[in-house]
Amino acid sequence: MDAQRHQLIKLSLKIHSHPELGFQETKASSWLTQYLGKNGFNVERGISELPTAFRGSYGQGKPAIAILAEYDALPKLGHACGHNLIAACAVGAGVASKPAIDQFGGSILVIGTPGEELYGGKAIMADRGAFNDIDIAMMVHPGVLDIATTQALACQTLEVEFFGKAAHASAQPEAGINALDAILQAFTAINALRQHIKDKARIHGIITDGGEAANIVPAHSAGSFIVRAEDDTYLDELKQRVLNCFIGAATVSGARLEYRWGDMRYTPMRNNLTLARLFSQNMQFLGRKVHPSDPRRAFGSTDMGNVSQLVPSIHPIVAIAPVEVHSPQFASAAASEAASYGLLDAAKALAMTVVDLVANPEIVIKIKQEFWQEE
Ligand SMILES: [Zn+2]
Ligand SMILES: [Zn+2]
Repeated sequence: MDAQRHQLIKLSLKIHSHPELGFQETKASSWLTQYLGKNGFNVERGISELPTAFRGSYGQGKPAIAILAEYDALPKLGHACGHNLIAACAVGAGVASKPAIDQFGGSILVIGTPGEELYGGKAIMADRGAFNDIDIAMMVHPGVLDIATTQALACQTLEVEFFGKAAHASAQPEAGINALDAILQAFTAINALRQHIKDKARIHGIITDGGEAANIVPAHSAGSFIVRAEDDTYLDELKQRVLNCFIGAATVSGARLEYRWGDMRYTPMRNNLTLARLFSQNMQFLGRKVHPSDPRRAFGSTDMGNVSQLVPSIHPIVAIAPVEVHSPQFASAAASEAASYGLLDAAKALAMTVVDLVANPEIVIKIKQEFWQEE
């Protein structure tokens, strides 16, 4: 790891200064695959019919251990989720694992998973079989605290549109049907619903079209929403209740509703505790104090949840800054010196965990037993 140090930090900063949105990560995916190819990995580009997805592999056979890379940025904010660090960490850990694979057998895979933020790239790849031949999957995400297990909510997006009727807002308001009022009514209904939903569930959205001019009754409005819940069953229930808010608003306003649920649904994260314990021990060995789970209970969602339903997985957090992700402050933090330390420690701990796994086949069995017992 230390031999790669400068190259990995350079790679992370290069991706950070060229932020690319989901499924457009052509530069990042080419830099990462070049790095893997140069370091003796077999590289396949464009896997799962996604041009910026990739798979680098080294060694053959079992156990097949995958380290997942993310490299998409956020609109306007750049790398405010620090995926540049995830990417450099994954390739670094993959390359550092080579001697262990040479000595003990098995294979190490670095899988490039694009479009995490907006499209659920891993969910698409999971549907297309990208994780079928894998025994264990791991990745590390940057954040505020060192955490072994991440709680991530099931979630699905909802796009809505209301179609009303334009009219002069002052001269002939009685002839109009106000599509903006419809979406505002829906917001009010959702705000009322929010008081009576289970803990951890989340509903949030924005208005993307609210009319053309103040003197025209808005004929069209549109919004983009996300519904999240702790488990799949409650998500289904909550989705219907949220939809009812829009249906009710359509009735009240007279505007016609059209809606579309997102194709990809993120499932909750299933943390493999045996695997998480190994990773924590390695982080502690590197001098970091690891919390078992997030004491501040901050919940988001990740498409790693979908992978964790198929393969024993972990998605721990490495501390790089005292600010939350998806903020401009975190975007700066993702290029800081603390971020470089975080990236290197996380990559070391991942590679050390790979050593634990290939050197101790009984631990792999234990990890798989835990996974199947939970089914
Ligand atoms: Zn992220
Ligand atoms: Zn994010």
